[in-house]
Amino acid sequence: MSGAKVYEIVPQEVRDLVDRWVKNFAWGLIRHNTMMRAVATVLKLHGIKRLPLGRYEVVYTCDFGDLPIIHIHGRERVSEACPACGSSAWRYIHTERELPFSRYDIITAFCLDCGCFYRKFGWKVEERDAEQA
Ligand SMILES: [Zn+2]
Repeated sequence: MSGAKVYEIVPQEVRDLVDRWVKNFAWGLIRHNTMMRAVATVLKLHGIKRLPLGRYEVVYTCDFGDLPIIHIHGRERVSEACPACGSSAWRYIHTERELPFSRYDIITAFCLDCGCFYRKFGWKVEERDAEQA
């Protein structure tokens, strides 16, 4: 794949815009579907399926009906607390890996103090609650 070069054509102001949409969604300021549609439009416009944004990346996975599904992935390394500010106040964003014999899964979390995305172990019950919300 020659993907790495393609990312460079996405201007910084567009990356900043995508970052703001994703974080506005994580803060609960805009709806999930609104964020996914907006991010998918930008990715399609640039002919790419994923865009790295510092500590996380957004990835287009598929269309669900007419809704594009965008996943937000934190970095590979799993942290107990936010690696940027040390806060343990977080919100569930996405399940990265299910651990079948554990009460935990590896998830991407959103730091409620500094707005960083990172990976941590999250209770499976928290995941279910988040998806029903
Ligand atoms: Zn933080």
